[in-house]
Amino acid sequence: MGAAISCSAHPSLLALPTPRAPLAIAAVAPAPAPRTSFFLSRPASQGALVIGQAPDTTTSLRFDGQDVRVENDGYFLIAFDRDAGPSSKLTATLRNGTTVEQAITVTPFQWALSYVNTPATGGAKTEAELAARRPGELQQIGAARTKISDSKGWRQDMIWPINYWTVPGGRVSGLFGRQRFYQGKPGSPHGGLDIAAATGTPFVSPADGVVVLAAKDTPFTLEGHLLLVDHGNGLNSAFLHCSELLVEVGQVVKQGQVLGKVGATGRAAGAHLHWGLRWRDARVDPLRLVPKAPAPKVVPKKKP
Ligand SMILES: [Zn+2]
Repeated sequence: MGAAISCSAHPSLLALPTPRAPLAIAAVAPAPAPRTSFFLSRPASQGALVIGQAPDTTTSLRFDGQDVRVENDGYFLIAFDRDAGPSSKLTATLRNGTTVEQAITVTPFQWALSYVNTPATGGAKTEAELAARRPGELQQIGAARTKISDSKGWRQDMIWPINYWTVPGGRVSGLFGRQRFYQGKPGSPHGGLDIAAATGTPFVSPADGVVVLAAKDTPFTLEGHLLLVDHGNGLNSAFLHCSELLVEVGQVVKQGQVLGKVGATGRAAGAHLHWGLRWRDARVDPLRLVPKAPAPKVVPKKKP
């Protein structure tokens, strides 16, 4: 007689504990619901850099008329300039030819004023010297900004270039976006975050990237020894006023790697690191991308 066909469970199955309903549900995770709209990582406001996710099956994306790259997992990067607004628009074209639009209201800022007792000509002694040297410097900066690497640094959570609370005299000495006056003359708004620290204090890369400009030999009139690091996808960091640069153009750098040392070269009233961030032409605020710094230590007074 052959093997009996039985309706009872196989003996090996009988040895297993009786499955409980919640376990059975957990074992079969539901497929994620398709993303039919945009997701933005932070509110849209002037000076904000925003990582977003496009609806599923997006094949192309436009942001205020510009083409924006969409990664295979739907992630993309956009930014709202210091003077952006009052509204923006994202338009995704899906594989089936339909489009998904999202109107974005850009929250404005009341930018404070800032008065600096530094000559507007910076490292140039006269207006004429500045006028003579500036076009060549701007040309180098412009050319460096067009070098877009395939770095994925833009997807990382940024870290502080200097943990200023750990270094002697370290502090945030200038905020992004303030309207500047140099010895009473109005200048461009402040395009970065200033971190004061002693000359020679090392600073690190806030994210992975590729060095696209290193003004090592001749300091620029305004930026001094300037370093530009491309984080990919149109995002780059500028580090100004350095006393020394420790990396070369073309070098791949990792988040946390030492790039150079703080100084006061170019248009600087004292030793500090100016960290500027741009996505394409949009100037964004680095302070909103780094972890909140620890509160200053309060030393209790000794009892008499
Ligand atoms: Zn600055």
